[in-house]
Amino acid sequence: MRATCWHGKKDMRVDRVPDPKILNRRDAIVRVTSTAICGSDLHLYNGFVPTLKRGDILGHEFMGEVVEVGPDVNNLAIGDRVVVPFPIACGNCGPCNAGAFSLCENSNPNAWMAEKLMGHSPSGMFGYTHMMGGFAGGQAEYVRVPFADVGPLKVPEGMPDDQVLFLSDILPTGYMGAEMCGIEGGETIAVWGCGPVGLFAIASAKLLGAERIVAIDRFPARFAKALQAGATDTINYEDENVYDTLMAMTGGIGPDACIDAVGTESHTPGPLYAVDRVKQALMIESDRPFALRQAIRCCRNGGTISVVGVYGGLIDMFPMGSFMNRSLTMRAGQCHVHCYMRPLLERIQRGEIDPSFVISHHMTLDEAARGYGMFNDKEDSCTKIVLTP
Ligand code: NAD
Ligand code: ZN
Ligand code: ZN
Repeated sequence: MRATCWHGKKDMRVDRVPDPKILNRRDAIVRVTSTAICGSDLHLYNGFVPTLKRGDILGHEFMGEVVEVGPDVNNLAIGDRVVVPFPIACGNCGPCNAGAFSLCENSNPNAWMAEKLMGHSPSGMFGYTHMMGGFAGGQAEYVRVPFADVGPLKVPEGMPDDQVLFLSDILPTGYMGAEMCGIEGGETIAVWGCGPVGLFAIASAKLLGAERIVAIDRFPARFAKALQAGATDTINYEDENVYDTLMAMTGGIGPDACIDAVGTESHTPGPLYAVDRVKQALMIESDRPFALRQAIRCCRNGGTISVVGVYGGLIDMFPMGSFMNRSLTMRAGQCHVHCYMRPLLERIQRGEIDPSFVISHHMTLDEAARGYGMFNDKEDSCTKIVLTP
């Protein structure tokens, strides 16, 4: 089959590789009909996450048709159309039973690698390094889905791929980012990053009842989508002082909650950018946390910082004094996608949200390498690329 493989920093290639096979009784094989490139894939593309190997197949946002099932998969049949969550989860362990599927204790065979770096391991994930299990990803013609009796969600007839594909990751992730803010109605929520995850965090904050939603980024095309998603205000961090503008908007109080939908590759105008880039290059610091630092400083006393942007390792100059003295709360996580898929599918069916608004480009799988470059560089107002094998 054809699959999108990592060959090194900024070197993606669509290669011919062996077809996947059923290895365990709870596996299924899915023929991919749509797959997408995620902001998390860019961290791999740019070489910021360790334990990738040359030839690894990437991709963790995909959907398609079930073409083979293992003997213990009783809920799926050949021909079913499914969308698959990016964390791999057994459905039976403590975290799975508690709904914390991205913390499954049985799905990462290489947990020891993640333990070395982080103390404990999250779940296995599709196409996301050997430290996260070394599973082949879904930017391919076919993919093996472990624990297929737990993850895949059957798609009702009549719903096009573009409307349901993002249930695999970014729609639940944006939703979880908003949910972690504890929105009850009437709040001001500030969202750093208007990529697909930030856009869905904005849309979700609106669904949950936030009154004022401030979108922070620097790309006009992304601001246009942020306003479409429900943002009430935008701040271009290159032109305006984000702290001053947010204080002016909130009578000096600050937003009730701040969502970091940027993560480890955040950018900032000014000298700090060079400092963190150099530290990152010298491997003194693995992540560049500008958006996170700013979110902490801006948040109102007693407010919440919700981190869905991905970080890999260590950050410098964490504003602990601001965080501690002002009684802030921080919540974070790889999304527990399984919990959110069905309720969000129902919201799509009821017409409360149409996730396809984030898509800017459709391409064939063969164009994946060009797609990575384009999404990374935000060329041609790119906000999200869907690939069709
Ligand atoms: P993206 O790269 O398209 O979007 C990131 C956006 O942040 C860009 O528009 C960029 O201009 C903006 N940005 C950069 N620096 C900024 C700053 N200082 N202030 C404000 N905005 C800034 O990526 P995406 O697909 O939207 O993903 C966003 C993040 O979410 C990534 O870190 C990704 O890895 C992560 N993610 C997490 C999960 C999860 O389960 N927690 C799932 C999917 C993606
Ligand atoms: Zn993702
Ligand atoms: Zn589990």
